Amino acid sequence: MNELMQHEPTIRLSFFFGTFAVMALWEIIAPRRALTTSKAWRWSSNLGIVVLNTVIVRAVFPTTAVALALAAQNNGWGVLNQIALAAWLAVPLAVIVLDFAIYLQHVMFHAVPALWRLHRMHHADLDYDVTTGARFHPIEILLSMLIKFAVILVLGPPAVAVLIFEVVLNAMAMFNHSNVRMPTPLDRLLRWIVVTPDMHRVHHSIEDDEANSNFGFNLSLWDRLFGTYKQQPDAGHRGMTLGIRGHRNAKEVDRLPGMLLLPFRGKITGYAINRRSWGKK
Ligand SMILES: [Zn+2]
Repeated sequence: MNELMQHEPTIRLSFFFGTFAVMALWEIIAPRRALTTSKAWRWSSNLGIVVLNTVIVRAVFPTTAVALALAAQNNGWGVLNQIALAAWLAVPLAVIVLDFAIYLQHVMFHAVPALWRLHRMHHADLDYDVTTGARFHPIEILLSMLIKFAVILVLGPPAVAVLIFEVVLNAMAMFNHSNVRMPTPLDRLLRWIVVTPDMHRVHHSIEDDEANSNFGFNLSLWDRLFGTYKQQPDAGHRGMTLGIRGHRNAKEVDRLPGMLLLPFRGKITGYAINRRSWGKK
C-alpha cells in the first residue's frame, strides 16, 4: 500500500477533530452571534449527516480521490502528469486549481435550479456555527465527488496535493462557518488571502444578493476576481437573518428526516438564476 494512503485516515481524523475542537471552543469563548435554535438538535442533526455522508460515499465509490490521483499518476493521465513540473510548483498549483474548481462548482449549485434544491439544505440552517460547515445533502456530496474525480482525471494533480486540498478544505469549512468573533483588523488582514467567518457568513444571509456572494471556501481571490465579493451584510453580522425564505421551521430544517427531504419540497424559489424575485419580496 502506498505510504500516503496508509497515513491518510490518521491525517484526516487528526485535522478534523483538531480543527473542530479549536473552533467549538472559540465559539464558546467569543461567539459572534447568539444562537437562535436548540444547539442539541442542530448539532446532532448536522453531525449525524456527516456520519451518514461518510458511510454513503464509502459504499458508493470504489475509490477515494487520493487513490484516483495515484492511479492517474501511474498511468500518465491528466495535464500535470504529462508535463514535467517540479513538485514544489505542481503541488501548490494543483491545490489552487482544485480550489478554483470548487468555487465554480459552488456557483453552479446556486445557479442551476435542480442543484440549488440540493444545496439549499446547507443554507437552511437557521444558525451558523462550526457544524454548519459539515452539513451537506448526501446527493450533493455524491455529485461533488464525481466532479472532483473528473477534475483529477483532467488535471492529473500530485496525490499529496489532493490530500492537502481535502484536509485544508475540510478544516477551512469548519473555520469559516464558525460563530466566532475576531478582531476586525485580523479579519481584514486574513481576508486578503483566505475566506474568514465574517466573509462567508454573508453567503448564508436570507437576502438573495448576499447569498449570491462570497462563494469561495479557501482563497478569497475567486470572489474578488469574478465579481461575487460582498464585504459585509447590509444588516450587520448581528442583525442579519440566516437561512432561506419559506423554510424556517426548526423541525423541518434541523431534524434529519426534514433535512434529507428538503430538496424535494415545494417550488424552487430564492436564489436560482431564473427564479430570483428582485423587488418582489
Ligand atoms: Zn452556498
